[in-house]
Amino acid sequence: MLTPDVLIIGAGPSGLSAGTELVKRGHRVLVVEREAVAGGIPRHCAHKGFGIRDLHRVLDGPTYATRLVAAAQRAGVTIWTTAMVTDWSASAGATITSPHGRFLVTPRATILATGARERPRAARLLPGDRPSGIYTTGQLQNSVHLHHQRVGSRAVILGAELVSFSAVLTMREVGCRTVAMVTEHPRPEAYAPVAKAGGLLFRFPVLVGHRVTRIIGRAQLEGIEIENLSTKQRRVIECDTLITSGDWVPDHELARLGGLAMDGRSKSPIVDGGLRTGSPGVFAIGNLVHPVDTGDVAALDGRHVVASVEQWLASMPPMPSTVQLIPAGVLTWVAPGRWGEFVARPSRGRYLGWVGGFARFPRVTVRQAGDVLATRRLPWPAVPGRLFRIPSSLLRDVTISGGDVTIEVK
Ligand SMILES: Cc1cc2nc3c(=O)[nH]c(=O)nc-3n(C[C@H](O)[C@H](O)[C@H](O)COP(=O)(O)OP(=O)(O)OC[C@H]3O[C@@H](n4cnc5c(N)ncnc54)[C@H](O)[C@@H]3O)c2cc1C
Repeated sequence: MLTPDVLIIGAGPSGLSAGTELVKRGHRVLVVEREAVAGGIPRHCAHKGFGIRDLHRVLDGPTYATRLVAAAQRAGVTIWTTAMVTDWSASAGATITSPHGRFLVTPRATILATGARERPRAARLLPGDRPSGIYTTGQLQNSVHLHHQRVGSRAVILGAELVSFSAVLTMREVGCRTVAMVTEHPRPEAYAPVAKAGGLLFRFPVLVGHRVTRIIGRAQLEGIEIENLSTKQRRVIECDTLITSGDWVPDHELARLGGLAMDGRSKSPIVDGGLRTGSPGVFAIGNLVHPVDTGDVAALDGRHVVASVEQWLASMPPMPSTVQLIPAGVLTWVAPGRWGEFVARPSRGRYLGWVGGFARFPRVTVRQAGDVLATRRLPWPAVPGRLFRIPSSLLRDVTISGGDVTIEVK
């Protein structure tokens, strides 16, 4: 039986950053991680691009992960690895299963920081044969960077998100050529310069407006059949490797097991601006609540949650009143999904959302009880497959007694 002040489940950027800050403020923190090494996803992303907003450095993933783990250890955070939380509820605590046995942890506060993953082939309902040679980007990078395995020689990437270009770099390292990138969207989800430079540099076509209609190959992948969504024409691309990239789902099993209120669209636990879930003493941070943003944004969530956790540890106040934020227009979900007075400003002063349609200069309108509280055209586009940021200043005039708030993006 263990009784830390705070149990943090998941030792990625968000969990490690929360642990470091809480220990610095004198709290006893246990971080548990199911993998053998702490650090989360960045451990197997060998390219640069991590740590910009939190550490003010441009680091590669493994270096970033190592720095966060070292900072946590220096501060005095207890990190258990190869320790998986296999059962959890807010009232009964967490069961950890590890090679050292099973442990029951009954903390005063729990932070869920379990991250997100890409939907694998089966969850994307891709029809056809079931050969080997199909990976998510996460699985690919795990095989290549952590287990030093080889993949095939001709790859197709499904999705054109930032992470899809990360897969191109990983495959290049092991001599696997990307022959095409395929996305159902009318334009690549990644930022335009990345998509353009990636396609030109590595000389593969980005086939927008296409879907995969068949996987071909008995034991090993031999090709995929794709369909042009407007002409309905089909053709086969020969390949021995298929990467199903992006299309994120939060690692939400514990949140669901513990009966937390969930957002039906993002499949994440619903939090307020202070990253409190609807269950007293339970908090959720990082990509678990916004699948997915960058590692530094997840790490800053870890710092942001500290105020709410400390308030809870100090006085265990009753759950404060909040109002629901309802997405409208092309906005399909928004996180935090609730607004409250105690921490009205979310992490980094931004709400994060997901959109189902493209808008070059989207107009965001905030309404409460039918009244328009704010409306503004934003200078950045709303693009499916990429997080959309909404300044929290647009919600400045929301009141706790005014009822649910609608945030429309058009
Ligand atoms: C291919 C790829 C490339 C990327 N490139 C970049 C980039 O260039 N720059 C950037 O900033 N970001 C990048 N990202 C995003 C970045 O990795 C994530 O935003 C970041 O890792 C999220 O941190 P997190 O703490 O929320 O979750 P994670 O890093 O996913 O950590 C969650 C941890 O929780 C653990 N866990 C889950 N369930 C349990 C359980 N039941 N018990 C114990 N432990 C559990 C997991 O094992 C994991 O280690 C990339 C992501 C991918 C997949």
